[in-house]
Amino acid sequence: FQNGIKQRSYPAVVRGDEKEYIGFATLPEQVHRKSVKRGFDFTLMVVGETGLGKSTLINSLFLTDLYKDRQPTDPTEKINKTTKIEKRTMEIEEKGVRLRLTVVDTPGFGDALNCEESYRVCEKYIDDQFNKYFQDESGLNRRNIQDNRVHCCLYFIPPYGHGLRQLDIEFMRRLHKKVNLVPVIAKADVLTQKEKKRLKENMMKDIAANQIEIYEFPECDPEEDDEFKRQDAELKASFPFAVIGSNTVLEVAGRRVRGRQYPWGVVEVENQQHCDFVKLRTMLISTHMHDLKDMTQEVQYENFRTQCISQISQMAMKSRTKLKRESQTFGDTGQADKLLQQKDEEIRRMQDMLHQMEEKLRTQQSIDQGHDSVINV
Ligand code: GDP
Repeated sequence: FQNGIKQRSYPAVVRGDEKEYIGFATLPEQVHRKSVKRGFDFTLMVVGETGLGKSTLINSLFLTDLYKDRQPTDPTEKINKTTKIEKRTMEIEEKGVRLRLTVVDTPGFGDALNCEESYRVCEKYIDDQFNKYFQDESGLNRRNIQDNRVHCCLYFIPPYGHGLRQLDIEFMRRLHKKVNLVPVIAKADVLTQKEKKRLKENMMKDIAANQIEIYEFPECDPEEDDEFKRQDAELKASFPFAVIGSNTVLEVAGRRVRGRQYPWGVVEVENQQHCDFVKLRTMLISTHMHDLKDMTQEVQYENFRTQCISQISQMAMKSRTKLKRESQTFGDTGQADKLLQQKDEEIRRMQDMLHQMEEKLRTQQSIDQGHDSVINV
């Protein structure tokens, strides 16, 4: 606004009445072509105790049999079990778009009496991927970095309780700043509609009371069409999703559906009256996959990177102090002065970088909860 008058924005070149286009309107197509050529990476971590239906749900989500080679678990081993990381990658292609999907499973999670080790294993895996990315980014081959960072963590909660258990609270509190947490209620077919509603409400209350930051949907763009807005509102209202998984295809009234057969009827995985499976799939794959990746890059990874650089800068300062002390003790000023200058230069660079990153994080937080900006240092 200038003098209270709204300024219009014009095309880049305007001559008389006729508009001349420079050609940058094709930029979205160029970006699209490049992204399609490169393909996409997405890493999903699944966490929850053995038997909660994690593998079944992943197979149902991606219409695959990702765990066909897995040995059946022996429930008597539960107590002594240690948490392992099992990583499986598959390439999926849809309409010429390639997705390299990695599923990180954590068999044994929460099965031992002391869960501390389970949390540590998951946390270490996430940190290790950030660390690897940080090193690749600072290395020579920056153009071909493979992104193995965890973009989303599906956390399975049993349907039998009244809300979150201590185990769930501790896990989420420990990891909420490092990964996009999406809690799901497992095996929702054991709950009536009323029980499901109450469990969801209790879980959301527990999440708020314990200041847990789960993945938050971005604000819907006011420019979006009504159908999108309706879908978005429905997704938000159904959180946390109560899901059912099945690898069995059944015939119901002439239709072939994935479902679970009970003496009284069939529970259909993709029936929205029966569970939120379709909502979870829509969010994870069709509507919010990119936002989950953006959040990983701009919030969680930036936090990690800031901490790393701050640690490196502190180490540089310590080594400067040591160098200065040694040079005073031994009286070797010439060489020591040169080294001190180098250290000062290094520290200054780190501090500049830190300052820029803090600034970037601050801007990011203040823009809005819509997290739709990309600012690169
Ligand atoms: P995981 O150990 O968490 O990977 O669990 P699995 O996917 O191996 O499932 C354990 C058992 O639970 C299997 O017998 C599944 O058929 C069953 N199961 C999986 N999903 C569901 C579900 O949504 N509802 C019910 N009732 N059972 C399920």
